[in-house]
Amino acid sequence: MSFSSILGQDKTIKRLRALIESGRVPPAIIFHGAPGIGKFLTAVEFAKALNCSHTEHRERPPAPPAPDENDLFAAAATGPAPEPELPPAKIHSDPSDSCGTCLSCLQAASGAHPDIRIVDTAFQAALLDETESANLKIDTMRELTRWAQQKPMLSGWKVFIVRDAEAMMPPAQNALLKTLEEPPPGTVVILTVSKKNSLLSTIISRSCLVEFGRLPAPALKTILEAQGAEPAQAAALAALGSGSLEKAADAAAFLKQVSALRPGDQSKVFKFAAGLPRDSHKAREEVKTLLDLLLAKTRSSWTAASGPAKTKFTALLRRTLDLRRMADRNVSYYLLLETALLESERAGIKIEDLVKP
Ligand SMILES: [Zn+2]
Repeated sequence: MSFSSILGQDKTIKRLRALIESGRVPPAIIFHGAPGIGKFLTAVEFAKALNCSHTEHRERPPAPPAPDENDLFAAAATGPAPEPELPPAKIHSDPSDSCGTCLSCLQAASGAHPDIRIVDTAFQAALLDETESANLKIDTMRELTRWAQQKPMLSGWKVFIVRDAEAMMPPAQNALLKTLEEPPPGTVVILTVSKKNSLLSTIISRSCLVEFGRLPAPALKTILEAQGAEPAQAAALAALGSGSLEKAADAAAFLKQVSALRPGDQSKVFKFAAGLPRDSHKAREEVKTLLDLLLAKTRSSWTAASGPAKTKFTALLRRTLDLRRMADRNVSYYLLLETALLESERAGIKIEDLVKP
């Protein structure tokens, strides 16, 4: 893996590579943009490239066997074996990207690099020996501050990646602020966030902002195919994914749920709507994805129709668009989804049709 493994973020990657090459890396960087577009992966690659030694990692050959202690002559003749010298071999000439083969890169790839720390709620649960919580706590940020004061162990830079940094409540953000105000030399803190305004203005003003755009559909399709999706399915999900791998995964989960419904089951609409998540933010995102699926299906039916059927689909298209707009307001997502599904069924578009190409 290197920067070349990140698709659809060419402009941003170019900017980050220029930062590495210049050697003027800001102590605090905010990667912001929609979920599922590669912010975290890029942060890891950035940390790898920054710490890459660009020299080949070679295992030391095994030490020669120790001389037999009883054989005094042999021991006196050989003396202590000299440490084999391994001159580092330059194997990678691009200073703005990682080589993938040096000791630093290998450790980073295995998640065991002593100077690259990923701070998220899963890491916090292990650190504080408790069950995973939704928020990053003050204690975790204090621990980060303490590590930041220590010298790097293996490489030139200590990189902290705070993943989904919106999980820090204001007191935790204030605890981090000290590190950003007086950054120890060679320290970089990268915060990845979907909405940068979830961070305190004092954090934002001390950080370099790097924006990530939504993924172009061809890049999203390539990623989905690499993850095992069939080309036709990948193309459909890429179209529904609105430039986000996370949204494409939501759409895929929906299609799976839909394909499990029994056609003709009178209660399928209610069962489907009842399966919405309790978390209102997640429920809204799921309802929006489903309405997008319904809209896509209605549009293709409208294009193929003529006469009275065309009028029927025009009305359904308008109605579904209205419901889609309502999904951005404070409404009952359960009722919204139920209404959309029932009206579509009445017009002849069944939920199970959504999984048909
Ligand atoms: Zn390397």
